[in-house]
Amino acid sequence: MKRSSITATTICGTDVHIVKGEYPVRPGLILGHEPVGVIEELGPGLEDEYSIGQRVIAGAITPCGHCFYCLNGVHSQCHGPLGGWRFGNTINGAWAEYLLVLDARANLAVIPDQLTDEQVLMLPDIASTGISGAESGNIRIGDSVAVFAQGPIGLCATVGARLRGASQIIGIDPLADRRTTATQFGATVTLDPTSCDVVAEIKRMTDGRGVDVAIEALGRQETFELALRSLRAGGVLSSLGVYSGKLVAPYDAIYAGLADQRIVTTLCPGGKERMRRMMSMVMHGRLDLTRLVTHDFFSLEQLPEAFELFSHAADGVMKVGIYPASVPSKDGLVPEPAAIGSR
Ligand SMILES: [Zn+2]
Ligand SMILES: [Zn+2]
Repeated sequence: MKRSSITATTICGTDVHIVKGEYPVRPGLILGHEPVGVIEELGPGLEDEYSIGQRVIAGAITPCGHCFYCLNGVHSQCHGPLGGWRFGNTINGAWAEYLLVLDARANLAVIPDQLTDEQVLMLPDIASTGISGAESGNIRIGDSVAVFAQGPIGLCATVGARLRGASQIIGIDPLADRRTTATQFGATVTLDPTSCDVVAEIKRMTDGRGVDVAIEALGRQETFELALRSLRAGGVLSSLGVYSGKLVAPYDAIYAGLADQRIVTTLCPGGKERMRRMMSMVMHGRLDLTRLVTHDFFSLEQLPEAFELFSHAADGVMKVGIYPASVPSKDGLVPEPAAIGSR
């Protein structure tokens, strides 16, 4: 039997950007920033709060809690732009048997016994990021919200919009199955950008004004621009996408810059209190993202295969679950060698 302190992890769209060379990380690092695991060893002085064998998650973003940025409340920007993102960026990440979590007291969140690994796997990044799009957009009860792209992050933004009390939630995606999932996650209406004029449709649905909040969850010029053009005067564009190349805001899309609109960007909120809140949402039946994991892999050796599937969006994949060898799953012990499963 292989030992592994990481019991579950997954692959993120950002990892695909990294592998394609669109986002530079420190060369030679192990990637992966979505860890679920068991404490194997503790650093000095942590025994009063943690114990070996405890099940834990850490956010994709692991702030120190005491630098200039952390103390100014922007934990994700710990030590400077994007500095809170360490796993698979500036230190080794979660696609491994073991993972070192720095600043453990700020970042290790104990998983309540009643929650399975599968139930918390989406929390370190996807849930925290997607929901933050709704939070940063400051969605108010009764708002109309458009979410551009219904991939994993966009779907979680849709969930966030529902949790924040939006009345009309417009999910936009060219893929029919993603639009169907969007409806299950809280979209009240969906639009296919390849078969309609999204901006005109959104204006029509909002008495000609545009939405109160537009969430960009893809990271492309087209969706950014559509989001801008769909926004009402005084509205908020909440951007979650990871952009590469040049991003342009045409003057006519932002009313020459005079329409009291705000563009806010957010990096995944991390830290153990954020993770506790996410787990609390799951525990009380307010958040269930297990159906986002469409494909399971039961060893780290299958990572290339999982990556291939995920990066090509093949076989209707949404997120993959990677469960390193011989760890107990909810169905008992996973046989070795285990095959790819799909659910
Ligand atoms: Zn990510
Ligand atoms: Zn910090």
